[in-house]
Amino acid sequence: MSSLIEELAAICGAEYVSDKMVDRLCHTRDAGPTPGGVPAVVVRPRTTAQVSEIVRAANRHATPIFVWGRSTTFIGHGIQTGCILLALDLMSQIVRMDFDNHAVTVETGAIWHAVDIELAKRGWELAVPGSGGMFVCTVGGSVAYNSVPHGLAGYGMTGDNVIALEVVLPNGDVIYTGSAGNRAAGGLAFERYANGPDIAGLFIGSCGVFGVITQVTYRIRRKPDAERFAFYAFDSSDVALDAAQALQRRQVPTHMVGLFGGPKPTGLTGEAFLHIVVRDTPAGADERVSAAHAICAGYNGVRQDEAATERYWVHHMYSWLRNTPPEVYYSDRPYTCPEAAAFMPTQNVKDALRYLKNYEVEHAAEFAQHGIRIKCYDVYFSRNAAFLWIDTLFPELDAAAWQYGLKMRADYSEHLFSQFASPGGILAPLAPHIMPKLGSGFDFLRVLKAQLDPNGILNPGVLLLGKGEAK
Ligand SMILES: Cc1cc2nc3c(=O)[nH]c(=O)nc-3n(C[C@H](O)[C@H](O)[C@H](O)COP(=O)(O)OP(=O)(O)OC[C@H]3O[C@@H](n4cnc5c(N)ncnc54)[C@H](O)[C@@H]3O)c2cc1C
Repeated sequence: MSSLIEELAAICGAEYVSDKMVDRLCHTRDAGPTPGGVPAVVVRPRTTAQVSEIVRAANRHATPIFVWGRSTTFIGHGIQTGCILLALDLMSQIVRMDFDNHAVTVETGAIWHAVDIELAKRGWELAVPGSGGMFVCTVGGSVAYNSVPHGLAGYGMTGDNVIALEVVLPNGDVIYTGSAGNRAAGGLAFERYANGPDIAGLFIGSCGVFGVITQVTYRIRRKPDAERFAFYAFDSSDVALDAAQALQRRQVPTHMVGLFGGPKPTGLTGEAFLHIVVRDTPAGADERVSAAHAICAGYNGVRQDEAATERYWVHHMYSWLRNTPPEVYYSDRPYTCPEAAAFMPTQNVKDALRYLKNYEVEHAAEFAQHGIRIKCYDVYFSRNAAFLWIDTLFPELDAAAWQYGLKMRADYSEHLFSQFASPGGILAPLAPHIMPKLGSGFDFLRVLKAQLDPNGILNPGVLLLGKGEAK
């Protein structure tokens, strides 16, 4: 190991390599509840060439690499003891703002919202504002994880707006996707679907198992002139979901969040709630929000003060969905969640909610024993479907409650993925619940992994691919 550390220091500079226990301990896991192993060394490259050299060194030493954006996921990174921890936080520059081609190119470790702030100075914005973690998560990590962004209903998934990637493969080679792949033509990054197959797609959502993303070229747009908001309460989840589907059919929302469990918004009555955000030209936004009011009224929705929706959207602060300031909402600690989440057809959210409510009833005694709280059964609606996330909180200093929380996540995932649902981001703890269900699709990914990464160097085991023990 000491010769590997010397090689890493020669590549990056000794000050960017650490085998101090305090640094290694801080890089064992993400924000989720699954414990991870302690890396042997943490390395922080500043250039693509350094990433490439690190990957080649890892192959020579047969030592796995685990890739670290900002580790803001809530699942579990699957980090193995004795690995090289590749922290990409120093690769955070904006490389190019290309207003002619509606694109921005950033280094992988750029923080979503930091990029948006720079674009906003010119009247532009990223094609999605990022996930709820936009203030802390990286562009590359979010693309690799397939995070579900705000603006999902209007602007699509994080990956939909990727134009081109620069990627270091598991053997250290550097490739460019889409139009950027044509090196003879200057590697211009402006069109994803050029030069044959959509190679970028291979790296979107694959959580670093096929390559390290080092640069991302992402779509940008001029900031729209108008934003409008609507907030409705409904008598039942079923009716709220029917209203949401009607809104999807008319393409009304840019962003729409449904609240179907957990605490009700402060001061409100009702069984389910919809927050609707519309962004457009002033005339377009007025027309669409009028349609929102008409549709919600048609489903007996009761109009609420949309200031809560506006606060949530403008500040991107989750607590406002429940009409609650962050300092109140987040003050009752230390609790954490074994987050489970999945895409499903909008109508199947009804089935998922029935399952969750039954689970609460059937496990009432265990919930009481372990102090389990339902934080939310919330839905981000996409253009045509729904992304349900289930946050069941447990007291994280209680070891038995912790184990019970992990069991709940496993139960939820196994049930939903066996019925009508599929996860967005996967990561190691969820992989056993979904990868075997992919059948020959999983076989195909195994073949790819074996070909691209015969030594099992990059994020082994994270998608149940290339699993091996660290040395
Ligand atoms: C307050 C808060 C709210 C959140 N809200 C949401 C939400 O609304 N929707 C949602 O989906 N998520 C949400 N998240 C989770 C999280 O923000 C995102 O999923 C985030 O996009 C992950 O980015 P990261 O840089 O932290 O990646 P990491 O967690 O560091 O990495 C994620 C995965 O990608 C791999 N990886 C990282 N960088 C690279 C790279 N350059 N190349 C290859 N592989 C790489 C890692 O090894 C890991 O497997 C939230 C998090 C927080 C803290």
